[in-house]
Formats: sequence, structure tokens, C-alpha cells
Amino acid sequence: MAWFSKSEEKQKSGRENLWIKCKQCYSHIYENEWKKNLNVCPNCNFHGSIKSWDRVELIFDKNTFKELFANISPVDSLKFVDLKGSYKDKFEANKKKSGLSEAVLTGHGKINGIKVATAIMDFRFLGGSLGSATGEKILRAANYAYQKNIPYIVFSESGGARMQEGVLSLMQMAKTCNGIAKLNKKNIPYISVLANPTTGGVTASYAMMGDINIAEPFAVIGFAGRRVIEQTIGEKLPADFQTAEYLLKHGFVDSIVNRKDLKHFISNVLSYYNR
Ligand SMILES: [Zn+2]
Repeated sequence: MAWFSKSEEKQKSGRENLWIKCKQCYSHIYENEWKKNLNVCPNCNFHGSIKSWDRVELIFDKNTFKELFANISPVDSLKFVDLKGSYKDKFEANKKKSGLSEAVLTGHGKINGIKVATAIMDFRFLGGSLGSATGEKILRAANYAYQKNIPYIVFSESGGARMQEGVLSLMQMAKTCNGIAKLNKKNIPYISVLANPTTGGVTASYAMMGDINIAEPFAVIGFAGRRVIEQTIGEKLPADFQTAEYLLKHGFVDSIVNRKDLKHFISNVLSYYNR
């Protein structure tokens, strides 16, 4: 498929018979079939993780995306070390593995001809966690949208705040929200797309602030984990609790959109704002 980079095609050569096991229905899907279907299970429509650059290919008009703030990387302010090693070693390894500078890719581009600023989270980088540099990039992309007077779209796929940065990571919740709230002053649309999973501090801040909140099917979206809530309130939660479908039913997301239809849906929404 065209939306894969050539280097990835090369990497794949020679291992075409690998299977992917769907996390929802546990069926085995040929890796090639899985990728061609945009990392979506052809049996149950579970939407698996997608790399930020593949998201760019999928959403943005060809050759219109320009990356911004690529030089912003994590800083180990607390000199954090746990039993598995230092935070610094961990993020350096993640940088190498993913080819990304942080858990979010920021930039601007066109969606069916409409210019937008964007931040796209990538789960491969420390579980898409929200650290100081992640927050900084999301804020700067929001500021870019504000300065240029163009819509802002954030794609979230994240386990929540980055524990290795302690309270500094929690501070990013307020920082990013502040930048996004400023867009209201100029009536600049902010669209939030929630992929599986969007949890913790990310859900509790910018991910749920969209003028329009769009979820991908079956995405897990929540703040505290299911077990923590059950133990706290002493009750069993419904089976579909913290899914996109449950949130839609209860008014927390506005729409559930299949990945293949996202580009069309977003440009449609933006065209209403432009009228
Ligand atoms: Zn499945």
C-alpha cells in the first residue's frame, strides 16, 4: 500500500508469513493483510496501534506534511533510575528504536486542501506517555495553530503521564490545556482523535477537550484503570466500561469513526467551520 514508507517495505521483505494476533478476537491475521487493512482486524474491526508517520500518510494530502519542533527530546530532570535502569537509557533506546525524538510527532499539513496544525502521538515511544518534551511539542503545535489561525488536530494514543518524570509530567496536563484553551479566543477549531488506548493524564487533559472528540472503534478510553475503580467503589463495572462505544452512549465522545474514513470525516467537519 502506498501509505507505507519504502524503508518499511524493505524491512518487511523476507518475513511475509508472519501473523498478527488480534488483541480483541484473538484471530490470527497475516501481517501483510493486517497492514493493508491499516492495522485494523478484518474479523472484528479492532483498531490496532498505528505509527505516527503512517497516520500522516493516511490523513494528510500527499507531500503537504511538514514536521515542526523535531529537535525537542526528553530531558531527565529527576535523574530517574529504577530496577530496569535509567530513564535516560530508556528514552535513548526508544529514540533509536522508533526513529522519533519524542512520543509525539508535530507539524502542519493539508487535509483535503484544508491547512491544519497537528500532534500525533506514537505508542511505540515509551507507551505514548506524556512527558515534559511531549507536552512542550503539543503546546508549541497549539501555539502554531493560534498564530497561523488554522485548526488544530491531536491524535492521542497513550498510556498517560510519564512516571519517570514525576510531577513534571503531571504539569503538562495544565500546560497543554492552557495552549488549547487559547484557541477558543480566535474560534479556532480543535479536534481530538482518540485511538486505543487513551488513558490517564492524557484523557484527563487535552484528549477530551476537543470541540469535536472522535474515537476509533473499540478504543479503550479512561482515566484510572478498571481494577482500581472496582476496588475503590466496591462494585463490578459493565463489560464495555471505558470503551469508545460506552463513552459515545454516555455523551463523552461525539462520534466513532473507522480509521479508513477519518480523513473524509475530519475534512467534512472542518469544511463546516469554514462556512
Ligand atoms: Zn479481531
